[in-house]
Amino acid sequence: MSAEGAGTLRLADDLFVVRLPGEANVVAHTGADGALLVDGASAGASDALMKAVASLPGGGPVHTIFNTHWHPEQTGSNERLGQAGKTIIAHENTRLWLTTDVTWPWNGQRFNRLPKIAQPNKTFYTTGTLEPAPSTGTASRRSLGIRYGHIPDAAHTDGDMYVYFPEQNVLAVGDAVSGQGWPVVDWATGGWIGGIVGGLQRLQTLANEETRIVPGRGPVLGLSDLKAQHEMYGTIYDRLAQLLNKGRGPTEAVDARPTKEFDAQMGNSDEFVRRAFESLWAYLSPDA
Ligand SMILES: [Zn+2]
Repeated sequence: MSAEGAGTLRLADDLFVVRLPGEANVVAHTGADGALLVDGASAGASDALMKAVASLPGGGPVHTIFNTHWHPEQTGSNERLGQAGKTIIAHENTRLWLTTDVTWPWNGQRFNRLPKIAQPNKTFYTTGTLEPAPSTGTASRRSLGIRYGHIPDAAHTDGDMYVYFPEQNVLAVGDAVSGQGWPVVDWATGGWIGGIVGGLQRLQTLANEETRIVPGRGPVLGLSDLKAQHEMYGTIYDRLAQLLNKGRGPTEAVDARPTKEFDAQMGNSDEFVRRAFESLWAYLSPDA
């Protein structure tokens, strides 16, 4: 899809990507009982997000939100929704990260834990399916069958999850897939380059040629994009693993330019290569 940047993208009569300036993608599913979101923007954009969702065709107040992972770009509406008694669904690992302060070792950035009311109130370990409440009528049947699951490869964090809308054939994947530029490899909370490769492979099994795949950032992708990314990150993974096996360090990995044929299209990769290499220490080093 060509539409990039801010604005709302319609995927189906009842399914949208809401893009606020500078914010991560939010997928909004509308129905007579209100809206279901995949991710909730940052706290500073939460007001604007709620307004944008309420003004969607068929839109209304949010009844359910998924957190695709714990980062503040995704969980900024949790507090208001939790206070309003709404359902906040996430992988159990995501809930755990939100109960503790996190500091990124590579730049000292600190993330404070969320108040209890803002933490996910419905968690899972493997997969789940949304069922309408028994007392509700046809309205909630629209969200019947929405499936979700853990992406256990840990591409971005160890709590990555997808949400699949079968009726619309739309797969929301959060930051497990980057639609725009090099990804952040958050190895402090479990992400790693091998997980990027594994996740891209796994997600291909959940999609077909017609599936629209919504990443955390950037334009909507298709199955061919996942295949191309899988090949690219597989190549980079092999190069970094070889450097690790030769006893090289992150700076030497950057100097070796393991992404050189992709940089023209993808941009400067120094940060990505450094984080990706460091992530191998956690997963591949015998003494890690
Ligand atoms: Zn993230």
